Amino acid sequence: MTDFLILPLIRSALLAQFPHIHLAQSTRQGAAPGAPLGFNLGYGLGDDDTRVTNAVAAFSARLDLDPEDLAFMNQVHGATIREISEPGVYDDTDALITRQPGIGLTVRTADCVPVMLYAPADNLIAAVHAGWRGTAERITQKTAETLVRDFRAEAESIYAFVGAAAAGCCYEVGEEVAALFPEGFILRQENGNPHLDLKGLNRQQLEAAGIPADNIEVSELCSIHEETLLHSYRRDGKRSGRMLTTIVLCEAV
Ligand SMILES: [Zn+2]
Repeated sequence: MTDFLILPLIRSALLAQFPHIHLAQSTRQGAAPGAPLGFNLGYGLGDDDTRVTNAVAAFSARLDLDPEDLAFMNQVHGATIREISEPGVYDDTDALITRQPGIGLTVRTADCVPVMLYAPADNLIAAVHAGWRGTAERITQKTAETLVRDFRAEAESIYAFVGAAAAGCCYEVGEEVAALFPEGFILRQENGNPHLDLKGLNRQQLEAAGIPADNIEVSELCSIHEETLLHSYRRDGKRSGRMLTTIVLCEAV
């Protein structure tokens, strides 16, 4: 594991105040020289499987987890939300909720928005994968509302981190996609396609679910133009690796 002694991670300053969770987003930094995709946590992208396995283990260790403790989703840009009590891989799912300590709810991205939710009073966490399709289906708002409606969390006491993702500065969409969203989140250029503020839309959905603005942190990092720090499918296409964002409730202390 000496390849990963230096492993930069993105943290939430806001959620770091809570001692009973760990939360981190990986970057493309931290791989040994020669790794074709940098620090890559996605399989099936042309990277060596063993290297990916080692990278997942190194990332997990920084959250005090084993790789087997992670819960992944086969993300389909839908709006299916699942409550889980075991790690593993969940098909056709774009949001996970758990009360169970020790399970790392994990979102895999390379431009899409990872949204992590924590209700400290209820010992409840959630993780959401929100690309433009999921955002159009309001998956982040629906997940926050599920915590309130089905799990009796108080919206005012929920905290959220919207992770590094494609930002309005760089995230071009076609007019047909722009038309799905309120005009206030579309950035119009003199020439060229409109840009979409996907992270802002997810912040707005959290607030629409009743979460106070002060309880929400939005990463300013843009995956598309942070070329040395972040993976971006939009920028690098098939040569893009994947980042993981994970939140976990610590075991009872
Ligand atoms: Zn940008």
